[in-house]
Amino acid sequence: MTQDMEGYEPNEAPPIMETLVNIIPNNPVESLATGEMLQIIVFALLIGFGIAMLGEKTKGLLSLVEQANEVMIWLVKLVMKLAPFGAFALIASAIGELGWGALQSMFMYMLAIILALGIQMMLIYGGLVSVWGRMNPIAFFKGFMPAMAVAFSTSSSSATLPVTMRSAEENLGVPKSISSFTLPLGATINMDGTAIMQAVATIFLAQVYAVDLGVTELLTIILTATLASLGTASVPGAGIIMLAMVLQSVGIPLDGIALILAVDRILDMSRTAVNITGDAAASVIVARMEKKRDYKNADELS
Ligand code: ASP
Repeated sequence: MTQDMEGYEPNEAPPIMETLVNIIPNNPVESLATGEMLQIIVFALLIGFGIAMLGEKTKGLLSLVEQANEVMIWLVKLVMKLAPFGAFALIASAIGELGWGALQSMFMYMLAIILALGIQMMLIYGGLVSVWGRMNPIAFFKGFMPAMAVAFSTSSSSATLPVTMRSAEENLGVPKSISSFTLPLGATINMDGTAIMQAVATIFLAQVYAVDLGVTELLTIILTATLASLGTASVPGAGIIMLAMVLQSVGIPLDGIALILAVDRILDMSRTAVNITGDAAASVIVARMEKKRDYKNADELS
């Protein structure tokens, strides 16, 4: 798109086996210093499990991590306040150089993501809820609509959590004993919509920078987008920041993020609605498997 992109020489993406072996850090401090995102996430997951397993003994470390998280979220919000100005300048220069062609490809990018989110929502969640949750998918979507609307307007799974819990309990018949575990956990780590955006954005930017993607690279994208979505904070715009990790894994320049930043807000709204619907679908299925769903409130399939 810009001159840099025309002259861009793609890096050789590492083979899939190397990516898999490399996710276990030899030296976590070095991973932190060099920004090896996959290694950092694996290390963080292991530390998290350790903190959870040791309970009382690691209370201090837990509150330290929680407070650091608060600070990071505050910083992300600050960056997101400045982002529109940078995105405006970058989009203006890209359109100035390339004309409407740039807008057209941006539109196709958005369309691809919205289509994929629609398939995930209707076919995957709708299908899982009816097959494993034994619930009428129309009743599921209708009952969960208030939470989806809040997720769409706030772009934050965390901010939506109280409404997500109320809708799941009151309209979908998920008992509190299940929803109070599955929904906060899901809001933090289960982000299918975010993983979809990260995968589509990576393929879109690979096309922009003329980077060839083979089967190995596509598998790497699936793996890293899944892990990146796990590590994405449930606040507006966090998914696009974690996209850097996916781009890095297949050798695509990070500058590409600036190009899609301008259209990310509307996609963030849509993917957040998908993210929380995945949590609700999982809760309905767990409730059904545990034979605890309250059918007074929601349709059961015969
Ligand atoms: N806004 C999303 C969420 O809270 C995360 C993302 O940016 O993808 O679920």
